[in-house]
Amino acid sequence: MLKRVLNIQPAAAPAAAPAAAPPAEAAVTLTPEAVLRLLLEQLRPLRGEMSVFAPRLGRALDQADWALASRTLLDLVQMATELSGRAPARRESIELEAPAGADAWQSATAMLLECGMPALLAAGDALATRARSAAGRVRSVNGPQQTEGVLQEMASLVDDCAGHGELSRQKQSLLLDLLRHLSANMAGLAEQQSWAHGQAATVQALLDSPLSVDVLQAAIANLQDVAARQSRIKESRDQARDSVERMLQTFIASLDTVADSTGQYHTRISAYSSELADVRDAEQLRPILAAVQRETATLENHARTVSAQAGAARSELLAAQKRIQALEAKLEEMSELAREDALTESLNRRGMLEALGREMQRSRRYHTPLCVSLLDIDNFKQLNDKLGHQAGDNALVHLVRVIRATLRQMDVIARFGGEEFMLLLPNTTLPDAMQAVTRIQRELTKSIFMFEHQKVLVTFSAGAALVGIAEGQDQLIQRVDAALYQAKREGKNRVVAAA
Ligand code: GH3
Ligand code: MG
Ligand code: MG
Repeated sequence: MLKRVLNIQPAAAPAAAPAAAPPAEAAVTLTPEAVLRLLLEQLRPLRGEMSVFAPRLGRALDQADWALASRTLLDLVQMATELSGRAPARRESIELEAPAGADAWQSATAMLLECGMPALLAAGDALATRARSAAGRVRSVNGPQQTEGVLQEMASLVDDCAGHGELSRQKQSLLLDLLRHLSANMAGLAEQQSWAHGQAATVQALLDSPLSVDVLQAAIANLQDVAARQSRIKESRDQARDSVERMLQTFIASLDTVADSTGQYHTRISAYSSELADVRDAEQLRPILAAVQRETATLENHARTVSAQAGAARSELLAAQKRIQALEAKLEEMSELAREDALTESLNRRGMLEALGREMQRSRRYHTPLCVSLLDIDNFKQLNDKLGHQAGDNALVHLVRVIRATLRQMDVIARFGGEEFMLLLPNTTLPDAMQAVTRIQRELTKSIFMFEHQKVLVTFSAGAALVGIAEGQDQLIQRVDAALYQAKREGKNRVVAAA
């Protein structure tokens, strides 16, 4: 497909064709930039957190900002590797060298082919093997002649990726349907009034929002929560039911004894009363009274035992109910944790996307304005390099603390990536959101971050956007990301309103 519109020429070759033979309208000359543009087209359909890469790369290409292009490619590789679950979340742990100099595009392209593409594909996929060998060839390119061959190979790789992407999309939509059915069936199996219905509704709502890996992960996590809770609660319910059954059995058995002993008591008492009729003196009365006393005491004992047994069974039942409650609370807490970033205790990406979906729905339902802001710490790499990783980690925690102290209870803070945070500000207009973020910036210069008795100035740049009425999550994130980029370009430590 793509190959058909490509007019493949070596990048450094002089324009051999004179003006008399102009290239076809749709033709593209395969320079490194053109290859990046081809890649850009492949990135465009990506959704969710991956959706930021196409606009970032687009900006880099439009402005010929090669440093940004190569950072974007590195970020893409990192995110793809994270999503594939093969590496821990930290950028430093993926040992990639930042490419620099004239060969930057070459190393970045090779990294993308070597790490990025295979990470996006299933293990053992033939495309992954081709991407890896293409990476080797890209690295060894030396001179325009070799460039031509490699670029042609990459064009064909990009072309095959397009077909591959279509197949993946079909698979995705089948899996999505499966997930929908699964969640509907799970809700059907649960009792009326059960919290499982709420969970299933959350899953359905998630699946109705634009598809992304995070959304799918959140949906699956929700279903797993439902299944785990149901099985544990069922266990506790079974225990509680056993307690009730035992209690009833004991009670019935005891009632039998009581009935028996009451029957015997009445028979004996009537026997004693006829004996009493024949009593002539006090001597004869004494054994009869003693026997009556014994019979009564036995009966009382029975009654006491029955009541004690009933009491024990009741407390067992109460204890079982308490266990169920504690279990439910614990499970609630566990499912919260899966949405939290361990370092800063703010929401993580998954939690943020869920919260964003919820807040967007709420804002539409009640016609209230909703703003989001994307912050990125300025020169954070420098802080890490100068003071060490621990200082960097502490600075992240410090920033979240300051944000939390400055914002309202209802605002949501989430760690969007390494040193990027997203704020959700419900019921807030754009000027108010700009003011809120500026207030955080002021607060940050006041409550200065200390590391090993050293004052460290932490600043950030931010974009802020008002959520549009019909706007999707991806579009919103791209808009606010573009505003953040503008804030960086205009000199950092500032907030820019998204267009
Ligand atoms: P800019 O002002 O343009 O944003 O520059 P920057 O240095 O902040 O941005 P860049 O994207 O070049 O570097 C981000 C750095 O954030 C790279 C990585 O070392 C650091 N980082 C990412 N996650 C963590 C983390 O969890 N802890 C620490 N300490 N550092 C992290
Ligand atoms: Mg960053
Ligand atoms: Mg930064």
